[in-house]
Amino acid sequence: MIPVMGPLIDAAEIDRVLDCLHSGWISSQGQYIPAFEKAFAEFCGTWSGVATSNGTTALHLALLTLGIGPGDEVIVPTLSFAATANVVIHAGAKPIFVDVEEATWTIDPQQIEPALSERTKAVIPVHLYGHPAPMDPILALAEKYRLWVVEDAAEAHGAEYRGRRVGSLGHLGCFSFYGNKIITTGEGGMIVTGNPEWAEKARMLRDHGMSRERKYWHPLVGYNYRMTNIQAAIGLGQMTKINDILEKKRRLAERYHYGFQGLAGVTPPPEASWARNVFWLYSILLSPENGKERDDLIRFLYQAGVDSRPLFYPIHVMPPYQGPGPFPVAERLSNCGISLPSGADLTFDQIDRIVSLIREFVSR
Ligand SMILES: *Cc1c(COP(=O)(O)O)cnc(C)c1O
Repeated sequence: MIPVMGPLIDAAEIDRVLDCLHSGWISSQGQYIPAFEKAFAEFCGTWSGVATSNGTTALHLALLTLGIGPGDEVIVPTLSFAATANVVIHAGAKPIFVDVEEATWTIDPQQIEPALSERTKAVIPVHLYGHPAPMDPILALAEKYRLWVVEDAAEAHGAEYRGRRVGSLGHLGCFSFYGNKIITTGEGGMIVTGNPEWAEKARMLRDHGMSRERKYWHPLVGYNYRMTNIQAAIGLGQMTKINDILEKKRRLAERYHYGFQGLAGVTPPPEASWARNVFWLYSILLSPENGKERDDLIRFLYQAGVDSRPLFYPIHVMPPYQGPGPFPVAERLSNCGISLPSGADLTFDQIDRIVSLIREFVSR
C-alpha cells in the first residue's frame, strides 16, 4: 500500500533520541528543546520559538497569549482541520466561519470584512495543504480593524508568501509536528513570533502559568502544554533534512502536474504567482460534470494499493459547529477534492502508476 504521508526517520533522529535517553533529560527540560526552538524559528525567518505538546496546543496558547477569551469572536476559514475552530472554542471565544477562495483554497480576504463585529478580536488564516493564505490583504484588514493574526501553518512548514516563510507573517504563527506533517516529532507543535514578550507569556502559560524567575509562583492559570526533550531531539534531527524534504516534495508535485497535463476533469492543486506551495498533501479536484464520484475513485485507488483521502469537510456543516452557510467554494472543494500520496520518499514510478490509475478511472 502506498501511504498518503509518513515520517522519514533515520540516524539523524535515532542518534539524537538515544543521546537524549542516555542523558536522563526525558521530560521538558534539556538541551534539545531550546536548540529545536531556535533552529525552527530561524528556519521561519523569525526570532522566538515556543515548542508545545502538539499543533492544537500551539494554537490554543497563541490565542491565550493574545488574551482572547469569552465574549470574543475569531474569524476562521470553514475549510480546515477542525482543530482550527476547536481552539477558539477551548479559549471560550466563538469561531465565525468564512468561505475560502478558489485560487488558493485558503481564507478569502473579501469574506472577512462582512463577518466582522465589534467583538471580533482575531483572524486565523490557514495555509491549507501547504499553500500560503493571501496575507497582505488579511494584514491590511487586521491593521484597519485592530485584529490579531494567528497563522495556522500546521500544514505549511517552509511555504512562502512573496518570498517570506509562513509563520513569520502574522502576530504569531503555529505549526504541528504530527506524524504526517512536513516534519514530525511524533506529536508536537510550535509557536513562532518576532515578539519576545509574547514568547515569554506563551512559555509561562505552557508551563502551568509558573513564573520563569520564581519557582512555584504562578501569576497566571496555565496549562501543561510542554514538549518533551525526546520529541525535540527528533525535531532537531528532522531539521537536518527539512530542506531536502521540501525539495523532494516539490519535484514530486511537478511530476504529478506533468502527469495530469491535458487530462480533462482533473484540476491540480493551486499555486498563486506570489506563492511557494509546499504541497503538504498533493490534492486534486475532480470536475463534478464528468459524473465521476470522488469516493469511487478513493475506493478504486485503494483496491490498486494506493491510499488517498477526501479533502476536509467544511467545519460549519459538522454537528458541534453548525455555522450559517452556505459557503459554496469550500463545499465544492470538499466534495470534489482528493489528497494523493505525498511522502517525500515516493518514487517517480509510484507517481506515474497513481497518475495512470486516475487517467484510467476518469476516462472509463
Ligand atoms: C494538523 C493540524 C492541526 C493540529 O495539529 P496537531 O499537532 O494534530 O494537534 C491544526 N490545524 C491544521 C490545519 C492541521 O492540519
